[in-house]
Amino acid sequence: MLRFKGSVVSEGIARGEALVVATGEVYVPEGRVAESMVEREAQRFDRCVAATRRDIEKLRTEARAHLGEMTEIIGTYLAFLADEATLLEPIRKLIHQEHFTATYATFKRFSEVARELENLPEPLPSRVPDLLDVKRRIIAHLRGVRRPMGELEKLRKKVIIIADDLSPTQTASLDQEKVLAFATDRGGPASHTAILARHLGIPAVVGLGQATRAVRSGDPVIVDGFSGEVVVNPDEETVRDYQARSRRLTASRRKVHLGHGAAQTRDGEDVTILANIDRGEQVVSLRELGIEGVGLFRTEFLFLGRQMPDEEAQCAHYSQLLHDMAPHPVCIRTMDFGADKWDHRVGGHNEENPFLGMRAIRLSFAHETLFRTQLRAILRASAAGKCRVMFPMISDLGEFRKARRILESVREELRSEGVAVSSKLEVGAMVEVPSAALTVDNLLREADFLSLGTNDLTQYTLAVDRTNPLVASLFNPHHPGVLRLIKETVDACRRTGKPVSACGEMAGTAEYTPVLLGFGLRHLSMAPRRVPQVVGGVQRLRIPECEELVAEMVGADDAAHAQRVLDDFHRQRETKRRS
Ligand code: PEP
Ligand code: MG
Repeated sequence: MLRFKGSVVSEGIARGEALVVATGEVYVPEGRVAESMVEREAQRFDRCVAATRRDIEKLRTEARAHLGEMTEIIGTYLAFLADEATLLEPIRKLIHQEHFTATYATFKRFSEVARELENLPEPLPSRVPDLLDVKRRIIAHLRGVRRPMGELEKLRKKVIIIADDLSPTQTASLDQEKVLAFATDRGGPASHTAILARHLGIPAVVGLGQATRAVRSGDPVIVDGFSGEVVVNPDEETVRDYQARSRRLTASRRKVHLGHGAAQTRDGEDVTILANIDRGEQVVSLRELGIEGVGLFRTEFLFLGRQMPDEEAQCAHYSQLLHDMAPHPVCIRTMDFGADKWDHRVGGHNEENPFLGMRAIRLSFAHETLFRTQLRAILRASAAGKCRVMFPMISDLGEFRKARRILESVREELRSEGVAVSSKLEVGAMVEVPSAALTVDNLLREADFLSLGTNDLTQYTLAVDRTNPLVASLFNPHHPGVLRLIKETVDACRRTGKPVSACGEMAGTAEYTPVLLGFGLRHLSMAPRRVPQVVGGVQRLRIPECEELVAEMVGADDAAHAQRVLDDFHRQRETKRRS
C-alpha cells in the first residue's frame, strides 16, 4: 500500500482501477526526408493541422453543453492552429529548406515558441501548456496515432486517471460517466484544469509529485478529494475505512442544513457558521449547506488565472457573489499575494524568506494602483449585498490606518465621479501577526471587526514555516503561546463589543471546536467541506466545559502538555458518549 498527498482541486471520494496515462512532453528526434519527398511532407503537415483543428472544433461543440463559458479556453487552441506567421509558415519553411520531417519540424518550432513565450510578460507564459497540448495533438496525427487523446479517448470502463498533468482540453473532454476521479503529479489549485474539474464535479487531487512512477494501470486506487490523499493498493482495512467515510459524508451532506439552531451547543449557545471561499461560484454549494455568510473570501485566487481581472471584471465577480449570498454577509479580504502565492504580474518577488517578506498588505502598499483598483471594485460592488472588507497581515494600528486611508480616498474618488457607494461597509483586520494580537486594543479603536487567521498566527508565533514539511510536526495551533494570543484578541473584542471570528484551519477542525468556543468565539469560518464535522462537534458541547478546557490549555507547560489536555478532553467525552 502506498500513499501520496497532494492538493484537492475538486471534492469527493472515489475508489476504482487506475489508468496511468502518459500526458507529459513528447520528444521527437531530429529526422530528415529526401528532397523528392519534401513537397509531400509539407502537404502531410497541412493535412494533420486541419485534422487537429477538426478535433478541437468537435471537442468545443461537445463541451459547450456541459461547460458553458469554459469552452472559450478551448477556443484559444484554435488561435494557435491558425497562427501562420509564428507557427505554421516557419514549420513549412523548416520542411522545405532543411528537409526536416514534418514531425521534427513541428516539435522544433513549437518548442522554440514555447520557450519564447515563457520569457514574455503575462498572460503569454500561461498559454504555454495550451501550446504544448496543440503540439502533442499535431504530432499524434503526424505519427498516425488514431487517438490523439491516447488512452483517455473512448474509455471502455470506469477508471481513475493517474497522469503527469492534464491540460484543460484533456480535462474538458474526459468522459464524466467513465472517469471516477483524477490525480496528477503536477498542477496547482488555481489552474484551469482545477476549475474545469470542479465544473465537471470529478473528484481531483493534483501536485502528487511521483505518483505516475509508482502506480500501474489496473492497480486499485482511492482518491480522497477531501484530505488530498491518494492511496494505491489499499489494504482491506483502509478500503473499509474509506467506504465508511464515503457513506458518512454522503449522509452528512444530505443531513446538514443549518436551519435555525442547528449549530447550537447542548446548552443552547448559537454558533454562526461561515465559509471560506476563493471563487464566487462556490456559493451555490454554500446555499445547499445553509451557511450563514462568507467569513473569508481569498480574492488573490482571482488573479492567479490566465487573465488578470480588471476593475470591471472584479466588480462583476464581487457583485454577483454579494447578490447570491444576500442577505448574508460576505467578508472580502483584499489580495494576499506573496509567500506561497507569488505571481510576478502583481509585483511579487522571489524572495529568500517569502513569508517574512513582501506579502499581503505590504505588497498592496507597494503596488498601490493595483490595490486601489481592487478597492474601487469592492466599493462599487458593496451595494449589491452585505459587504465587509478586511486587510491581511496587519501588524499594528498604523498599518490598518494606512490601508483604511487608501480605502477612504478611493471612496472619495468614486463619489466625485458620481458612483453610488454603500456607506455601511464595515472595515476589519485579520489578526495573524503576533504584534497585532499583542496590541489589539489599539487596533480595536479603529477596526470595525477582527478575524483570527490562525494559520499565519501559528506560523509567525512559533517560527514554523507553514509550508515546510520538515517542521510540520512543530506547527501546533494548540501551543499555549498561540492560545494566549487568541485569548487576548477575543477578550479585547468582547470588552469593546466588536465582532470577532476565526477563519484559519483551526476553525474548520472539529478537534479545536471546544477550544475556540471556550475562548468565547461564536463565529467560525471554514472550508465548506468541514461544516458537517464542526457542526456535529458544536452540537455535542456545553460552554462551561469548553471554558474549563481552555483555562487548562492556556496554563499548560508546553505544546505537548496542551495536546494531552485536549486529547483527554475528547477521550473522556467519547467514553461518556459510548456508556
Ligand atoms: C490564516 O492565515 O489563518 C488565513 C486564514 O489566511 P491564509 O490561510 O489565506 O493565509
Ligand atoms: Mg493568513
